[in-house]
Amino acid sequence: MSEETLVNRHRAVLPQWLALYYKEPIEIVRAEGRRVTDSNGNTYLDFFAGILTNAIGYGVKEISDAIRAQLDTGVLHTSTLYLIRKQVELAEQIAELSGIPDAKVFFTNSGTEANETALMLATQQRRSNQILALRNSYHGRAFATIGITGNRGWSASSLSPVKVSYVHGGYRYRGPFAGLSDKDYIAACVDDLRDVLQTTTSGDVAALIAEPIQGVGGFNVPPDGLLGAMKEVLDEHGILFISDEVQTGWGRTGEHFWGFQAHGITPDALTFAKGLGNGLAIGGVVARGDLMDCLTANSISTFGGNPISTAGAKATLDYLLDKDLQGNARKLGDYLLRGLRDLGDKYDVLGDVRGKGLMIGMEFVSPGTTPSPEAAGIVLEETRERGLLVGKGGLHNNVVRLAPPMTLTETEAAEALEILGESVARAQEAVK
Ligand code: PMP
Repeated sequence: MSEETLVNRHRAVLPQWLALYYKEPIEIVRAEGRRVTDSNGNTYLDFFAGILTNAIGYGVKEISDAIRAQLDTGVLHTSTLYLIRKQVELAEQIAELSGIPDAKVFFTNSGTEANETALMLATQQRRSNQILALRNSYHGRAFATIGITGNRGWSASSLSPVKVSYVHGGYRYRGPFAGLSDKDYIAACVDDLRDVLQTTTSGDVAALIAEPIQGVGGFNVPPDGLLGAMKEVLDEHGILFISDEVQTGWGRTGEHFWGFQAHGITPDALTFAKGLGNGLAIGGVVARGDLMDCLTANSISTFGGNPISTAGAKATLDYLLDKDLQGNARKLGDYLLRGLRDLGDKYDVLGDVRGKGLMIGMEFVSPGTTPSPEAAGIVLEETRERGLLVGKGGLHNNVVRLAPPMTLTETEAAEALEILGESVARAQEAVK
């Protein structure tokens, strides 16, 4: 079947808001390591799947073996009303890794559901439906999570049941707080938080939810300590703090295992998904025992934490801890950041390079600091032509996002840098 036909069939039967990357969308049919092959036989180095679903790469024997062993029992799933050994083992391991005191874990199928659950817990315990979120956030696509998604390009409906107020706290390249030192930026965000609490809420807010580094919003890295300074204000009001670790968890940021650890705090709850499954559907919430158990009615997920997804997730977690992939993310992240900053010095169109570990954003601008979605679009197409898959994001769709699997090698990082160099040069020529 030709690509064209599959694209047309996709467009005819799937919603128009289910966007596809690339002028000629690709169908990935095989994968190994960090490389994927499309149905036309083209092979690409995958610098985006790391965030989307795949923390450690494709075709990893230890993970395939764990999934196959579960398949061989014949039990893909029965019901979460029965005991599932791997679910308990994985929960014990994640609870301990979270650092949250007396932690309990609830498994879901996605990050959206994880955040929906965290919101349900926080609103239930605090008896308030008021939530604080960061401007330009992304937390999911269900009815409540859409309401706390502050990036209009992704917030498909305004009819959410949650009463949300947005505060500053991630993006520093443009906007009212651009150019401030770390210390002044933190002070400005804390002032803004106090102001929003006073002016747009009744004070009894349930929780603040934040991505320690905004993902969809363009890999926006706040200064270390920001969320800690904000949490001091929250604590004055008994407001809970939820850390959305869907993109920042599992050591991807290199420095820390969880994104919140750069801020010297422990959240009341954290949410996770994506990478842990290495391709399987899994997500979840970790919360203090009293918060998790504040629900008194039953609230199960029939599929969350099923035998297959927990077997795959447990193998993924063991693998990334055994191989110190966090250390690899730090080393290769530093290498990529250095190379990309050199590119930024060379090409005006690359206005900002930022990131931590293997979570790196390249913001495209022209002229001056005006967002250039056009340049980012050119880089997306040019990298693909040269055998590299990258992501896009940012409020203005002008940020190229790099998030390779954490097993990335130095040779692959160098290859990507070269392709990005050529592609940014093309974008510079095209928009000048
Ligand atoms: N939180 C964050 C930070 C995310 O990036 C995403 C997905 N992009 C989600 C939540 C939602 O996860 P899912 O797509 O698994 O529902």
